[in-house]
Amino acid sequence: MRLSRAFLPTLKETPAEAQIASHRLMLRAGMVRQTSAGIYAWLPLGWRVLRKVEQIVREEQDAAGAQEVLMPTIQAADLWRQSGRYDAYGPEMLRLKDRHERDMLFGPTNEEMVTDIFRTYAKSYRDLPRNLYHIQWKFRDEIRPRFGVMRGREFLMKDAYSFDLDHAGATRSYRQMFTAYLRTFARMGLKAIPMQADTGPIGGNLSHEFIILAETGESQVYLHKDLLEFDVLSQPVDYDGDLSPVVDFWTSRYAATDEKHDEAAWDAIPEADRVSARGIEVGHIFYFGTKYSAPMGLQVSGPDGKMVNPEMGSYGIGVSRLVGAIIEANHDETGIRWPEAVAPFKLAVLNLKVGDAGTDALAARLYAAFDPDAVYDDRDERAGVKFADADLMGYPWQAIIGPRGAAAGKVELKRRATGERVELSVEDAIARVKGGG
Ligand code: ATP
Ligand code: MG
Repeated sequence: MRLSRAFLPTLKETPAEAQIASHRLMLRAGMVRQTSAGIYAWLPLGWRVLRKVEQIVREEQDAAGAQEVLMPTIQAADLWRQSGRYDAYGPEMLRLKDRHERDMLFGPTNEEMVTDIFRTYAKSYRDLPRNLYHIQWKFRDEIRPRFGVMRGREFLMKDAYSFDLDHAGATRSYRQMFTAYLRTFARMGLKAIPMQADTGPIGGNLSHEFIILAETGESQVYLHKDLLEFDVLSQPVDYDGDLSPVVDFWTSRYAATDEKHDEAAWDAIPEADRVSARGIEVGHIFYFGTKYSAPMGLQVSGPDGKMVNPEMGSYGIGVSRLVGAIIEANHDETGIRWPEAVAPFKLAVLNLKVGDAGTDALAARLYAAFDPDAVYDDRDERAGVKFADADLMGYPWQAIIGPRGAAAGKVELKRRATGERVELSVEDAIARVKGGG
């Protein structure tokens, strides 16, 4: 992407309404533009990050055996009357009428719809277990939308739904998603801690929230410090095998949100091992048995010929919230510091003297080596503006090309995360960025 032709706008002024770093930086870096309270347009820079986050979520859901579908945003109220939630949901639900005066709604979640789809096809225990997910926009008319995309009204969620024959099967599905979640967040460079949670309006008996620690988080959390040190990506995972080595570690150490906090259990932990902090919920998983399958008449014939209601669970990830959460965990005074896995572009090539034959030639070579995963700052701007924008946008690598270096065939390579700079030949710079180290 050549910056002279790109729509990558920035804001000079810090927007007054933005109270936390991620919101300020997303507005300043031109990632999103608020169009109504809690509703955002995703501009090219933000959209690229959102898609990368979404793709990691997708890969880990697929690896865990879930299958992707796409359900609509608009749902018929009648489905929600079958579960009893149409009246129960309250003012967070955006209710609409079509031209025939039929009650419709913009989905805040999809338990009813997926149950309806599944009951059309599932006939016997051989159709179980199954897990269906989609990545789709949700609407919740939050009373206080704030912190930018972290608590929006329209937001992108991954929601998966599992169907099992019995409690043992449902527990297994729950543990598969539990493991997939740990891996998903770790791949984004986040430490997300699963914590026992209340089940809220989804209902049910077992639930964990996945929470990352950040000063600006909305929840107060308490945990054993060992949980911050566990490296889940170094553990082999066999989704068809025994998941205990990964899952059981987390249930053996204390971690709780405010609502579930147990003072006695907390006091029993040595003080040096206790961490109490603020946290951001990035995912939430539920096991709720037959809460939807029973009232909605989803049943299959069991191995003994008797009809049974499948046991269900649902599993959400806040895909758009994650973009804000990742920035909360990765920024400094000058801007964002993207982890490579979700960076909008891997490299920014800063040509400090556009029109100079030497700098133009080196810049073109570097850019060609990484396009389309690079931006090329070929604008007619001062060096200071180029440095500031590249720091703000947070690309993991910057290749700085000035006339003096170019005459010697050298570029200056800067690593955004550490600020470390080295002078290298173009070939070495390319190798270094490709190698990621
Ligand atoms: P919260 O407690 O933050 O209001 P929730 O418990 O109502 O969230 P869930 O129904 O568990 O949310 O939804 C799954 C995930 O969707 C949450 O873990 C969160 O990451 C994300 N999410 C929920 N509400 C919002 C929102 N208003 N804006 C952005 N993301 C959201
Ligand atoms: Mg939740």
